[in-house]
Amino acid sequence: MSVIKRFVAGAVCPRCAKMDTIRVYRNEIREYRECVKCDYKDGQNLDGSPEPVSELATRVNSEKPVNASGAKIDQVISQPINFDPNSFKDS
Ligand SMILES: [Zn+2]
Repeated sequence: MSVIKRFVAGAVCPRCAKMDTIRVYRNEIREYRECVKCDYKDGQNLDGSPEPVSELATRVNSEKPVNASGAKIDQVISQPINFDPNSFKDS
């Protein structure tokens, strides 16, 4: 099955601010927007339902820094993992 990608006339990329670089394509459940000039990519469900939380907040990922545009910044931080099986007993 081929995916048809259509350019959106007059659309401005929210990341690089270039015009006519946004193209959209969709599958059965989601519509995607992407910029051909930068790595911007966005998607939304066709039925308008809110975005699912991509990742449950845990102690590990909740401290991941977020830059001004809201994009996650991947940082490689080595840290010890303290696994205490007893901590799950009373929950
Ligand atoms: Zn862009």
